[in-house]
Amino acid sequence: MDLFEYQGKQYFARYGIAVSPGDIADTVEQAVEVAERIGYPVVVKAQVKVGGRGKAGGVKLAQDVDEVRLHAGNILGLDIKGHVVHRVWIERSSDIAKEYYASFTLDRQNKVHLGMLSAQGGVEIEVVAEENPDAIAFLAIDPVRGLDVETARRWVNDAELDEVAREQAAELLVHLYECYTLGDCDLAEINPLILTPDNKVHALDAKVTLDENASFRHPEWEEFRADEFEDPREKLAKEKGLNYIGLDGTVGIIANGAGLAMSTLDVVNQVGGSAANFLDIGGGANADVMASALEVINTDPKVKAIFVNIFGGITRVDDVANGVLEALQRVAISTPIVLRLDGTNAVEGRAILAPHLNDSLITEPTMLDAARRAVSLAND
Ligand code: GDP
Ligand code: MN
Repeated sequence: MDLFEYQGKQYFARYGIAVSPGDIADTVEQAVEVAERIGYPVVVKAQVKVGGRGKAGGVKLAQDVDEVRLHAGNILGLDIKGHVVHRVWIERSSDIAKEYYASFTLDRQNKVHLGMLSAQGGVEIEVVAEENPDAIAFLAIDPVRGLDVETARRWVNDAELDEVAREQAAELLVHLYECYTLGDCDLAEINPLILTPDNKVHALDAKVTLDENASFRHPEWEEFRADEFEDPREKLAKEKGLNYIGLDGTVGIIANGAGLAMSTLDVVNQVGGSAANFLDIGGGANADVMASALEVINTDPKVKAIFVNIFGGITRVDDVANGVLEALQRVAISTPIVLRLDGTNAVEGRAILAPHLNDSLITEPTMLDAARRAVSLAND
């Protein structure tokens, strides 16, 4: 799970990494309230899970309340590389003498943790790596031995950080490493890590990716998850354990297995339709899962027909058929459903559905036929 900058900074703070005081705001009025509380000048920062916000106009300095209104108004609702800004982070503005870069990530090939540190931060590290690779000091860290402050001191020397920054930076890097390991991150990145004119080192940005495999030992991550600005259907699907992605078309898709779900999207496209979603119900397509899948799709007003494409393997088609019938009793579905049922126990499955077929519950013998039928119903 990727964190928003403000969440990353909260996470950093837990491990003793210095960040600027600030707070979040979802409206211009809230932004004003936060700015008045923390004091000017402030920086208004778009909270989206994508880099390069500064260049896209998502990071603005505000000297007074009018500028906060102006910038918060412009940034809220802004589209940054396909991510709409729902929330801004307002923090006390820092004066910057130097911008550095620091990160930890996993070097899978060498089975070590990899630290990257550069005195040339603020710009994208990929650009530094391309144009001036010697400006990055790499540090391979044995996960068993970890990172001690002595090693960190040598590292900040190698990276040629300014003398006055070195001791603070070394200590900060040890904390960042703790955050990365104890905090179970896949990535912990600070760009820029700054040196202020009064010689303080602190994190001005935070990019944190949490390792979901470790979520069982981090109940506190729930709070991060709760702050996701998700499509309500994607949220419902997640709660039901379904793999759902909303799209723009009119044919709702339910398939078992990600590969079949993608092929279903293709075949719907091929016959002139457009999918309203991707939905993989996975292996155990029982009644409950089917009902949840239909429920999620049914809440999408764009959907004009639903195409259920099941190829039974371990999943048995008779179970799926019973699931569909049970689901129909639990959820009132407002659009016709076209089913293609094949594979294990397909004959039994079709027999179960046969007495129930009508204008809004239809079976077709092949995937292509079913796609055509669903698309023609959707276009009616
Ligand atoms: P990014 O563009 O998404 O990486 O967002 P950052 O948080 O890194 O901000 C982009 C740039 O804005 C930074 O590299 C800084 O140059 C600048 N910036 C951010 N916060 C401050 C601040 O408090 N004071 C000043 N002077 N500049 C800032
Ligand atoms: Mn940045």
